[in-house]
Amino acid sequence: MPPRLKTVPDKWIVEQTLADLGDTTPERVEARFAEVRQRFDEQSAIHSADPETWRTFVVAWTGRKSGVLSLITDHWLKPASPELKRAVGQELNKLKAHIEAVLEQKRIEIEAAAERAAQARERIDLSLPGIERATGTRHLIRQTFEELERIFLAIGFSVVQGPEIESPYYNFEALNIPEHHPARDNMDTFYIEGTRGGRLLRTHTSPMQIRTMEKQPPPVRIIVPGKVYRRDNPDATHGYMFHQIEGLAVDTDITFCDFKGTVEYFVREFLGPKAKTRLRPSYFPFTEPSAEVDATCHVCGGSGCRVCKFSGWIELFGAGMVDPAVYGFVKYDAKKLSGFAFGMGVDRLAMMKYGVSELPLLYQNDVRFLRQFP
Ligand SMILES: [Zn+2]
Repeated sequence: MPPRLKTVPDKWIVEQTLADLGDTTPERVEARFAEVRQRFDEQSAIHSADPETWRTFVVAWTGRKSGVLSLITDHWLKPASPELKRAVGQELNKLKAHIEAVLEQKRIEIEAAAERAAQARERIDLSLPGIERATGTRHLIRQTFEELERIFLAIGFSVVQGPEIESPYYNFEALNIPEHHPARDNMDTFYIEGTRGGRLLRTHTSPMQIRTMEKQPPPVRIIVPGKVYRRDNPDATHGYMFHQIEGLAVDTDITFCDFKGTVEYFVREFLGPKAKTRLRPSYFPFTEPSAEVDATCHVCGGSGCRVCKFSGWIELFGAGMVDPAVYGFVKYDAKKLSGFAFGMGVDRLAMMKYGVSELPLLYQNDVRFLRQFP
């Protein structure tokens, strides 16, 4: 329901004829129109403040059926005597022109005000302080992963990833670690109850060696970054989870020289051109021969210091030539193929290279610690 006007339009005048009003001369007609015009001006000033009231006011004056202008046409112009008709017509046209001009002016004002209000609502206050979002850096572990990946991608390896929940077959058996093999003692892990065949959290990234060779014929050149799990009691250098990068290269003509050359290339890329490499005999169920890869201490350069326990050497990772028995699990021809594999502890490499003494520091997400490795 439209709001009621404070002043009813002057229908008391326009509902009567000019003859009723006693306006019988052009002068009287002119004066009567002046009176109507004055009323319009007064009322438009009163009703223009509120847009809703204004709309009702406009209809009251210009409405086709009972607006003031229509009533003037019906009651004043149409029944006017021939002598007055010309004067009434002229005055009516002048009044219409005046009213239209005022309404148009008001329409422009209302639109401008609405525009200003919208702009005020949408205005951005540049003096307000902004919302600061703290941006971090890559985590030291992530950085080390990327560094290792860069080194191996440069010599033709590609990156593959695999499931962290594995079957015992891929984690142990196919890697030449049968059920009662003593190597399983060092790789005690978490078993998931209620799964068919007993699922476990993988103890190394090596299952992806098997999964990759099952899927593709040789040659294979892959590295496998990822999380691995052991049932270790947490201390300064152990946790229930750590990160590994597995490497595998298999082809028809890979020799121990290729293995050693690749290892030496890696050590120089990772620790600097002066770093020397040493291989020590070791044992892993899925490589034969197996080796521990040592490098000259990056802190003292080999002369001996606390970091290398005054030996001049630091242990980097385990590696070796792939045991031919492994090829049997993936239907590779052990007589024609050879290759090498390695498994690096990424946390260990990061701690060693960047001088981090405690493993837990890597997982506490303390920005004061992490900011030291931009
Ligand atoms: Zn040293």
